[in-house]
Amino acid sequence: MKESSMEETNPIIKESSENATNLAPAVSLLKDRAGRKWTVEDAIDLYNIDGWGADYFSVNQAGNLVMQPQGQGGPSIELIDVIEEMRRQKLELPCIIRFHDILRHRVKRINESFLEAIKSHNFNGTYRGVYPIKVNQMREIIEEILEVGGPYHFGLEAGSKAELQVVLGYNRDPEALTICNGYKDADYIKLALLGIQLGRKVCLVIEKFSELPLIVQVAREWGVQPMLGIRGKLSTKGSGKWQESGGDLAKFGLNTSEMLRAIEFLRNEGMLDCLQLFHFHIGSQVPDIRTVKSAVQEGARYYASLRKLGAPISYFDVGGGLGIDYDGSQSKSDFSVNYTLDEYARDVVYQLQSICEEENVPHPNIVSESGRAIVAQHSCLVMNVIDAIAPSIRRSWQNSPLLKTSPLVAEMYEILSHLSLRNAQESYHDAMAKREEALSRFRLGQISLEERALVEQLFADVCVWIVENRKRMKRIPEEFQELENRTLQQYVVNFSVFQSAPDHWAFDQLFPIVPLHRMNEKPRINATLVDITCDSDGEIDRFISRTEVFSSHLKLHPFREGRPYYLGMFLTGAYQDIMGDMHNLFGRVNEVHVYVDDEDPEDFYIEEVIRGDKIGDMLEANQFSLKEISRMLKDQVDSKIRDGSLKPKQGVHLIDFYDHVLQDYTYLQK
Ligand SMILES: *Cc1c(COP(=O)(O)O)cnc(C)c1O
Repeated sequence: MKESSMEETNPIIKESSENATNLAPAVSLLKDRAGRKWTVEDAIDLYNIDGWGADYFSVNQAGNLVMQPQGQGGPSIELIDVIEEMRRQKLELPCIIRFHDILRHRVKRINESFLEAIKSHNFNGTYRGVYPIKVNQMREIIEEILEVGGPYHFGLEAGSKAELQVVLGYNRDPEALTICNGYKDADYIKLALLGIQLGRKVCLVIEKFSELPLIVQVAREWGVQPMLGIRGKLSTKGSGKWQESGGDLAKFGLNTSEMLRAIEFLRNEGMLDCLQLFHFHIGSQVPDIRTVKSAVQEGARYYASLRKLGAPISYFDVGGGLGIDYDGSQSKSDFSVNYTLDEYARDVVYQLQSICEEENVPHPNIVSESGRAIVAQHSCLVMNVIDAIAPSIRRSWQNSPLLKTSPLVAEMYEILSHLSLRNAQESYHDAMAKREEALSRFRLGQISLEERALVEQLFADVCVWIVENRKRMKRIPEEFQELENRTLQQYVVNFSVFQSAPDHWAFDQLFPIVPLHRMNEKPRINATLVDITCDSDGEIDRFISRTEVFSSHLKLHPFREGRPYYLGMFLTGAYQDIMGDMHNLFGRVNEVHVYVDDEDPEDFYIEEVIRGDKIGDMLEANQFSLKEISRMLKDQVDSKIRDGSLKPKQGVHLIDFYDHVLQDYTYLQK
């Protein structure tokens, strides 16, 4: 478009009448008419789906997001179809969708990666991974992991008595490991010994020296030989957001002198033979492969030294930390990783092997405790947008008489209608001055609330126009860069950040968020997301971005009243969906477990439906008795009936309604 035509036709004013109810900024209608047609490839690019989707997610030609559990070329399921099926089963949004096929694929992949690396390096040990159940403790997930992991003797890790009780019931393979981490009391130790008596490899990892005398004492009492591990406190630290769990100051693990003391202690007790595992954990989501390498190097030296001191250690446990590329940047930024699973496995094997050869000690079996890397990708949260709040609503001033009667309003309108690329900066300064003037005159009681509102609306429109057009300016003034936030729309989304993405709230963790449909349509709206809690933290204003560390907004399609618009938040399977809190008493969300249909790769079935919390469930979780609050309401109704202000029939109706809603889903319903 030529600049001169901009001068004559300011689109905000000219184009408005037939479009007066459209909430989208008017100017966007004029843009992008020329140029290339938008395609789904552009959408894949914009949302960086190839980056974070790791072959599991893509967009089909119909513009719908698809899940492909075996990567490209395998079966493919449209998420929008899953939502349709949920509707038929009367399941409301928000909802977690779990793709069990992805989970299965992940378990296979991690085992195959390590076995492959072991084979190609002629490493003498084998791989015996464990899944730390704290990362997602859901029963179906643990069952699935054990089933797929069976042929690999894949085991489980517990960090508390409660977790160990689960693990003891489920992990029945005598070859598979059960790793017991976390601080321990006598009962914790006894549970582990119970497992040993059942013929299982239950390893008590010593986290601090003082646990050792207790373990020896309890083992003597029970007459059982424990299987022991020792956790080393490495000086190598993770570098991401979760690095606290490693390093010299970590709360778990033994430093070098404590380790020597532990060896002496066990030797004196005649129990050095029990020490079979060396363990370290430098924190979750390690972004940089160099950190992994140096941790393995340091750990391997510890292992070699302990072997030489006479401990018959045969397992080398590298802990967790294997990361997921949440932002798809393949970098060592906080929410990404600069390595692949295969590379990770190869590096662990290679570094360990080199040091074993150097130190002339046997190759141990390798254990890893990857949680995040196994479960993060298998689940996503599906949410519906329920409203869009636009910064500028033209219809509010279009026909206002104040445009003529209020000098201040008229002046602001004048600025807006004469906006052009050439005078933008000057006009912006004038508009700011007018707005200031309106504020101070309102304080002095010289203008009405309506006048002030109108001035602010017109000012918002000036900002919108500038943001929409600034790319066409020869030189963009610095002050315009910051204007963007003023022009963002807020999309109100039916979910609670606190329940469904606690790490976004607590750690500013980024999760990919993308529309599930309409991807063949160019997304023109710059939006942030707000949830339905009453908390101002209940919003998402950091999004993954291809070009920046993160973006303050997400490109979305215009929200159309009465038509569904679905968003998915992805990679939420680790640490999220099990940890949420009950802010505003929004409870657990509905959940479906989806499998690909073996007969038809385009089809799927819902194996399991887990209904989210009802309002009554949330109240009971906080010690309220439903009978009691229902009675408290009924008392009030009764007294109104007695004094004649309610008819008995109305009263019954109100009580029934109140009781009925107690059985409803806590989120907004259609
Ligand atoms: C949390 C934890 C893990 C899991 O870490 P991920 O980074 O999720 O793989 C493994 N080991 C220990 C000791 C942990 O505390």
